[in-house]
Amino acid sequence: EAKAAGGGRWTLLDEDVRHRARRALRLVADLREALSRGAVDVHYQPIVRPGRPAQVLSLEALCRWTHPELGAIPPDTFIELAERANLVPALDAHVLAVACRDLATWRAAHAAGDLPLTPTHVAVNVSAVSLAAEGFAAGVRRTVAGAGLQLSDLCLEVTETALASDLRACRTVLEELRRDGARVAIDDFGTGYSSLAYLKDLPVDHLKVDRSFVRDLRTAVDGVQGGPARAVAAAVVSLARTLGLGIVAEGVETLEQDAVVRDLGCEAVQGWLYSRPLPREALAELLRGGGLLHPLPQGAGA
Ligand code: C2E
Ligand code: MG
Ligand code: MG
Ligand code: MG
Repeated sequence: EAKAAGGGRWTLLDEDVRHRARRALRLVADLREALSRGAVDVHYQPIVRPGRPAQVLSLEALCRWTHPELGAIPPDTFIELAERANLVPALDAHVLAVACRDLATWRAAHAAGDLPLTPTHVAVNVSAVSLAAEGFAAGVRRTVAGAGLQLSDLCLEVTETALASDLRACRTVLEELRRDGARVAIDDFGTGYSSLAYLKDLPVDHLKVDRSFVRDLRTAVDGVQGGPARAVAAAVVSLARTLGLGIVAEGVETLEQDAVVRDLGCEAVQGWLYSRPLPREALAELLRGGGLLHPLPQGAGA
């Protein structure tokens, strides 16, 4: 009896696993198809100089996929699938091409006097497999030049994990592109490879302080100025300053977090307090208005 029940349970579990596997396979096939049609879109989140109002400095390009039946699927979900199916290099290349095309459009409008502001550069996320792929640097150069841009119009965001997985190969590629003007940022800084020793040898321009550190920032905790989260953030900022690196605080949602990161000396901030990632039309509208943003605390007013 018990055995039969157990058998039944196994069958159910089995079904569940099979169902999930089928769903994953289908998503991968659909993503491959969407990529081949260029149907994966790109939104842009402003990176701002904080203030009242804040001013757009640059943009981060973030991929957006709306599945025909399942609706919007967050990148964290499908990128993991895409990684397993080796679709990430194609995804990254597609996002780079779209981002370059859009930035070139805004540059041209700016030159024609139709946009008062153009971002200093656009940042794209580059996963470890893309970076390690044969011909990555040549592909980036081709795309950038094809859009009529220069490498200095581009920032490559890489994670510590990507760098650690194949440090030597990554170094060479990043060094080469950086020598010709590309910027390099370490994304989600503080969450990956924990040794700081590698930092001083890397061809890097900016550190992006991960959202998980920013989330816990308070102006004062139990009467103590800032508490442990602030101490960690302060250490990262001071490390960056010592190494001559720029700092971007990610995931700033509240006025309090904003006050702390500004007090620590972050010259650039990215977060919902200033703007969510925007479709290109909304972003163009923002640039048309001079790229000025007023902080809107999350949860207030919305
Ligand atoms: P990321 O590169 O660290 O990008 C920042 C993520 O934080 C974005 O999530 C952004 O929408 C979100 N974010 C920004 N401000 C706030 C805030 O104030 N609060 C909160 N809660 N979230 C905020 P998104 O767009 O869902 O992307 C997630 C991750 O997916 C990215 O993290 C990046 O690692 C990856 N990704 C996105 N686009 C691409 C791409 O084209 N290629 C690759 N390889 N990875 C990508
Ligand atoms: Mg990023
Ligand atoms: Mg990040
Ligand atoms: Mg991330």
